[in-house]
Amino acid sequence: MDGDFRTEFVREPSALKQHPALVLNADYRPLSYYPLSLWPWQDAVKAAWLDRVAIVAEYDEVVRSPSTEIRIPSVVVLKDYVKPQKRVAFTRFNLFLRDEFHCQYCGAKGDLTFDHVVPRAAGGVTSWENVVAACSKCNLKKGSKSLHRAGMNLRKPPRRPAAEELRNVGRKFPPGYLHDSWIDYLYWDSELDA
Ligand SMILES: [Zn+2]
Repeated sequence: MDGDFRTEFVREPSALKQHPALVLNADYRPLSYYPLSLWPWQDAVKAAWLDRVAIVAEYDEVVRSPSTEIRIPSVVVLKDYVKPQKRVAFTRFNLFLRDEFHCQYCGAKGDLTFDHVVPRAAGGVTSWENVVAACSKCNLKKGSKSLHRAGMNLRKPPRRPAAEELRNVGRKFPPGYLHDSWIDYLYWDSELDA
């Protein structure tokens, strides 16, 4: 819990029977959308005990210690505002997120790989500006040819996304499981069935 909060989120809420707590920043927005900021209940209880968070909503279930009984928090809010990270890490996941999990050549979803726009063989580097999400079919078709020679086009020029931009994309991809008490604090696109 000390230092960087972001590294400790529950990654697969649907796999959890552990009553994770949604963690809100002091401005009542989720600390992170992707991954959604969820703590194991033990961390949420501990943080409340240490007075670092306020409990906003609770599960029906309780945990007991020899001396006390408390309801498990389902939403907690940090007492101190954590400044969002400005710089976006160049990771495979963030790159897919930037490209919204679509092939940047044909728009297909799923079966995604990475493609170097300027092929590595031609001196292309691995960077935000030169790597895009591509389906296997397009990746194969392009091979180590230039865009022009392959006769292919990118849907948008690849570049480093701003942190805010990536956060907004992340909102479109909610995790598979959402507790009722979290919904008020999430701003998923309305057409997504939360
Ligand atoms: Zn494709």
